[in-house]
Amino acid sequence: MLDASMPPSDYTIATLLSRAATRLGVDGRTEAELLLTHALARPRAWLFAHADDPVADGDAEAFERLVQRRERGEPIAQILGHAGFWSLDLRITPDVLIPRPETELLVERALALLPIDRALRVADLGTGSGAIALAIASERPLAKVAAVDASAAALEVAQANVQALNLSARVRCVQGDWFAPLADERFDLIASNPPYVAQDDPHLREGDLRFEPMLALASGNDGLDAIRRIVRAATAHLHAGGWLLLEHGWQQGSAVRAILAESGFEDIVTEHDLEHRERMSRGRVRG
Ligand code: GLN
Repeated sequence: MLDASMPPSDYTIATLLSRAATRLGVDGRTEAELLLTHALARPRAWLFAHADDPVADGDAEAFERLVQRRERGEPIAQILGHAGFWSLDLRITPDVLIPRPETELLVERALALLPIDRALRVADLGTGSGAIALAIASERPLAKVAAVDASAAALEVAQANVQALNLSARVRCVQGDWFAPLADERFDLIASNPPYVAQDDPHLREGDLRFEPMLALASGNDGLDAIRRIVRAATAHLHAGGWLLLEHGWQQGSAVRAILAESGFEDIVTEHDLEHRERMSRGRVRG
């Protein structure tokens, strides 16, 4: 409900924003702007140029409903229905993991291993919204990317993103469990941000994670089930000298390096995220 002490007609863009910002906490100002942008279907810059404009009651109420959803903890990306990743704006629904900045590190490292002037074959396992597959395809015009997900609902989101970004000639969405839908195809690079949280990790019941698909987050007692399956099957799907890149939990670096080594991967390297925590590892099959 709107604050009864203030007649709705007295709301301006500026007053609505500052009240919501206070209620929403740490990133409140930014989030309030994004939600108002969404409620009014106006670009963010428009809000600043019209700070003193009155807001129609219906619009103020629509905004209030969005603020309340955010107050209840719903992730901002799910409320807005989209999120930024790499240089792309991606459609997001509750069926997919919300792309995170640490996964941009994976994209950056993958690009460093993928020459721009060669026809390449890349796979993104557990593609979700299509984030990794689409970021790579957008930067490597000769690459063909297979975007795999076990969830049909997730793949629908990925497919919508492929189409919106005009990448359907080079990004193919396929449904199935890890390598299952890829038959005997081989790739130059396989990337994955698999589920890697331990299934009893209390974080799964906190913050944004509560609203995200469990299939994309949790993987067995130690969180490493998916990584073990991917690594063990990956050698049969990589060309000689091809790379496997995996995002993982910040305490899983040594375990993931051991899993890669057991399967015969070489040149194994772990890299840190922006918080200096071990966040992704890669290995290469013998060239
Ligand atoms: N990085 C996510 C988190 O812990 C987990 C993503 C994943 O399991 N792939 O918030």
